Amino acid sequence: MSENPLLTVSPLPNKAPPFDRIKDEHYLPAIRAGIEEARANINALKTNEAEPDFENTVAALEGASETLSTALSIFYSQLSANGSDAMQKIAEEIGPLSAAFSSEVAQDPAVFARVKAVWDKRDTLDLTPEQSMVLEDSYKGFVRGGALLNDEDKKRLTAINERQSVLGPAFMNNTKKAIEAFELVIEDRSELAGMPDNAIQMAADNARERDMEGKYVITLDMPMYIPVIQYADNRDLREKVWRAYASRAWKDAFDNSENCLEIVRLRHERARLLGYETHAAFVLERRMAEKPETVLAFIDALRDTYKPKAQQDLERLKQYARDNGGPIELRPWDVGYYSEKLRQKLFDFSSEDLRPYFPLENVLTGAFAHFGKLFNLRFEETDAYPLYHKDVVAYDIFDDGNGRFLGTFYGDFYPRKGKKDGAWMTSYRDQGLYHGTVERPVVAICCNFPKPSGDTPSLLSHDEVTTLFHEMGHAMHALLSDVTYSSVAGTNVLWDFVELPSQVQENWAYSKETLDLFARHYQTGESIPEGLVKKLNKAKNFMVAWSGLRQIAFCTLDMAWHDRDPSSIEDPARFEDTALAGVTLFPRLAGPISTGFNHIFAGGYSAGYYSYKWAEVLDADTFELFEKKGIYDRATADAYKEQILAKGGSEHPKVLYRNFRGRDADPNALLRREGLLKK
Ligand SMILES: [Zn+2]
Repeated sequence: MSENPLLTVSPLPNKAPPFDRIKDEHYLPAIRAGIEEARANINALKTNEAEPDFENTVAALEGASETLSTALSIFYSQLSANGSDAMQKIAEEIGPLSAAFSSEVAQDPAVFARVKAVWDKRDTLDLTPEQSMVLEDSYKGFVRGGALLNDEDKKRLTAINERQSVLGPAFMNNTKKAIEAFELVIEDRSELAGMPDNAIQMAADNARERDMEGKYVITLDMPMYIPVIQYADNRDLREKVWRAYASRAWKDAFDNSENCLEIVRLRHERARLLGYETHAAFVLERRMAEKPETVLAFIDALRDTYKPKAQQDLERLKQYARDNGGPIELRPWDVGYYSEKLRQKLFDFSSEDLRPYFPLENVLTGAFAHFGKLFNLRFEETDAYPLYHKDVVAYDIFDDGNGRFLGTFYGDFYPRKGKKDGAWMTSYRDQGLYHGTVERPVVAICCNFPKPSGDTPSLLSHDEVTTLFHEMGHAMHALLSDVTYSSVAGTNVLWDFVELPSQVQENWAYSKETLDLFARHYQTGESIPEGLVKKLNKAKNFMVAWSGLRQIAFCTLDMAWHDRDPSSIEDPARFEDTALAGVTLFPRLAGPISTGFNHIFAGGYSAGYYSYKWAEVLDADTFELFEKKGIYDRATADAYKEQILAKGGSEHPKVLYRNFRGRDADPNALLRREGLLKK
């Protein structure tokens, strides 16, 4: 076999991955060899006779698995962007291998003893803030994994973790199965009146697949559910579909009630075992918010503003429905329908209508101009790197002031087989120390924008432009990172802070000054009209309190489940009704939210749902400063770049944010942006 390119230093500029030489068969051997190498390094660290110190223990531990972590980054980035059945098979082997190695290290008492020795004398070590953070991450990582527990408790913790690893997927599987189990056969097309043609077509295709040619089958998949709820004139149909979705995995063959209860009980038990009051306290210790009380106060304050305004939103909608021959009393299955009609009446345009102003080529040049102007950067397209697909374009990014090379950036914009849906930023190598040298990062953004066809270029909707700015914002966090240790570089920050750099960029995508850099009609060359930009901004806040209150209901429910001892809860639906009293504007007319709430029961969002709103507050508060000083103000942009982006996770985000803004974020900044408080 030829030399494994994942096991040698890349000869390319910026040591970028040699995609032209990496073959599927290289991954497993590289990861096995990477694990062996890391194990040898860790053994050397454990048997080192010198007194444990930061360098010989914490930094050595971080550097122990460089080959492994680089190989894993390349593998998983490629699996998402350029996957295949063969890679999927390899993933099934790599997953357990790397998980087993992680827990081998996490449960090694000799490694922990050394880390703890460094931790215990941390005050005498004269560490930099970044080193303190790396030490804290390492020590807390061990402790939160149970390193301080006695053997009996360790055993119980392992059993809890194992049971959890089964329950989460089981919960998710139930919601999936419950959704798949529903189909509603419609005999006559007229019952689907109001729905867009492509949705009706989808229903006809569903029927054909089930040997019911000529009929229509409605399912609960989102691309089918949304057009029914938003557009179907048939109120009974909307009600049936709404009820079915809202009752998924509740009192049916896939009931998640018992899973809900067992999951929260085990989470609570684990938290208590590790010395925390509740699961929320355990989770939030490693978040910017830090404590349940902070989160509760945060969501209660937002609820107090959203609720009366959401009531007004609902009143206005009721009035509109009555004026247009609708029902006297609106039900939940009417809200989407009438709000869509009202939206059309008020704004008579959609994000789709802006496409002609956003040919991808221009948007990209414009985005580079925007980031260049804001952060003083230069993007240079280059063919110095072999690429993994012909649609991918590579850029070198430089500081335009001092000419310093900042990193490698791949843009991967079109859909294709083997590429995941949606949009994301990924890092092939984070900035930071590797084999003794501080390297610059290699990052990519992947999107699924429409491909050019015939004479028509790729035209983006405004939502897609916003997506591009969002993902480029993550990429900036990675590319402008300026730390020593890769574990705290770029986007490796506490979880409720990671969306600040991305979301804040979306604000510029709504500003005329930024849009003027690139938004030109692809046929006439005409700049985007001022009136259209105004409408775009007004439409953004349509029913904003209504959807804000809905988000707050999810946050409230999440905290209710996770910030208490759940042992006495017997019925998830009844528990939810109590938890949500005062946060919802309709009584519960179907199943509870909880039994279908994958985010908190099967995803990573337990005691973390608030972070959506939390990050919005941070980004609104940040952008407000830009608006005040000028959206391209050099000093503000430099401060943001130096205090937030360059620092990655090298200091606590609370400290970083205060250094940048001079104070904590003001929740009212979000409400002002949403038009709910006066500017
Ligand atoms: Zn994001």
